[in-house]
Amino acid sequence: MANTKYIFVTGGVTSSLGKGIVSSSLAALLQARGYSVTIQKLDPYINIDPGTLNPYEHGECFVTDDGAETDLDLGHYERFLNRPSSQANNVTTGRIYQTVIEKERRGDFLGKTVQVIPHITDEIKNRIKKLGETGEFEIVITEIGGTVGDIEALPYIETVRQLRWELGDDCLVVHLTLIPFLSATGELKTKPTQHSVKTLQESGVQPDILVCRTEYALSDDMKRKLALFCNVKQEAVIESRDAFSIYEVPLLMQSEKLDEVALKGLGLPTVGEPDMTRWKEFVHKLKNPVTEIKIGLVGKYIELKDSYKSIVESLIHAGVSNRVKVNIQWIHSEKLSVENVNEYVKDLDGLLVAPGFGQRGFEGKIKAVQYARENDLPFLGICFGMQAAVIEYARNVLNWKDANTSEVDENSKHKVIDLMEEQKKVTDMGGTMRLGACDCELSERSISREVYKRSMISERHRHRFEFNSNFKEDFEKAGMKATGVNPETGLVEIVEIPKHPWFVGVQFHPEYKSTVANPHPLFEAFVEAALTHNKK
Ligand code: GLN
Repeated sequence: MANTKYIFVTGGVTSSLGKGIVSSSLAALLQARGYSVTIQKLDPYINIDPGTLNPYEHGECFVTDDGAETDLDLGHYERFLNRPSSQANNVTTGRIYQTVIEKERRGDFLGKTVQVIPHITDEIKNRIKKLGETGEFEIVITEIGGTVGDIEALPYIETVRQLRWELGDDCLVVHLTLIPFLSATGELKTKPTQHSVKTLQESGVQPDILVCRTEYALSDDMKRKLALFCNVKQEAVIESRDAFSIYEVPLLMQSEKLDEVALKGLGLPTVGEPDMTRWKEFVHKLKNPVTEIKIGLVGKYIELKDSYKSIVESLIHAGVSNRVKVNIQWIHSEKLSVENVNEYVKDLDGLLVAPGFGQRGFEGKIKAVQYARENDLPFLGICFGMQAAVIEYARNVLNWKDANTSEVDENSKHKVIDLMEEQKKVTDMGGTMRLGACDCELSERSISREVYKRSMISERHRHRFEFNSNFKEDFEKAGMKATGVNPETGLVEIVEIPKHPWFVGVQFHPEYKSTVANPHPLFEAFVEAALTHNKK
């Protein structure tokens, strides 16, 4: 294969401009032209990974097949590219320093003083090039977290400077920036972008492409001005207008020719157009649903919707498959009680109880499950949501009133959810859960088997507690079946209630595997069941 090409994406002016979506959109366009592309995120914080972060800090923690706990942007990369990513796709400052310090302790630096330049920047470089060196990718897109000018982002920007020098035409810098609209004067303003590019230039990095987030169209005049002040070609000033959905962004970027400008910059041929036919169909269906349904999403982090990013996106994908707009009713599990549960859930078509940790809000989740079970409301419980369903069944059907998970009540006589054996010796919290892809064997004549149309599946995990198999027989006799089991350990991965129209609890996280090209079958079936419920 010819040299791997590298694209760096930096951000300026403010955070939350959507670097992840722009990177994913560019990658999707290049992929649709036939290139093999991967995207990597470099995060400037000192945590080794976001696994130990509270969702309020950082939104959802995304999990890869190989069990890496990563930034939620990796979810976008996978949803846009329909390609699994891995540990190598997300690197934090913490991990960089950890590696360098381990090398220092081993004596690898042969008596040298260990410094940010070259040791930290070399390690960052290694992590960037590692993806190229797999030989799997023609183009590696590296998104630099944070905003230029941040103290903690400096070593990354310095690494980009060094790599530009080393790689020459094999690399390109895209700078994402904001063109604010001042309502007082009714104008778009380019000055913040000029300053942000200057900051980048002060670090020795000249961007090749400016992607400009804006509420309104950029005039040619404005593009000319930006090109002049920022040393880029006018065709490389790309307008990125606010979109109806993130899934529209690749199409907007295509109409601005972002892919073409990028290929030119990398010295790659620009003939033809990316084939976005299927993507366009998806967006068309997304914009033109036939009907609407309402799904209740019960969780305790709902003040920050990003905490449930992959679930929300999976529901959107499944909505498109079913030609239905899925409206989410956010339900705060801490606010649910026996007295008010009906108020919160009464006109729903389906109920999804989300993953989570710890006692706060857990009783509310159990109340929500009870409502769904008793009222034939389609139910999907994910991870802690599945565990809540098991506990609810134990308390209200098996009549074990004290049933609980040992995560919440160590002293219960009916710990129907209990700490996994291998977790008992764990003391460190970081990276020690049961993580990543595991197999699961599905029972004949179950919803799961019907939905997946296969007997063996692989799904991703992130948990410490499990269904307590000592009680399995009691549950099965009482009508809750274990329909998915890990073939090696016997661990229960799926529970269903065959008497209920659609009641499925999964120990794994199907939401991590739903993509635009392959909406997840479990979400598709859940939305379909909700649609049926709605028609009744
Ligand atoms: N807290 C539960 C466990 O660790 C569920 C985890 C989750 O929902 N991701 O098993």
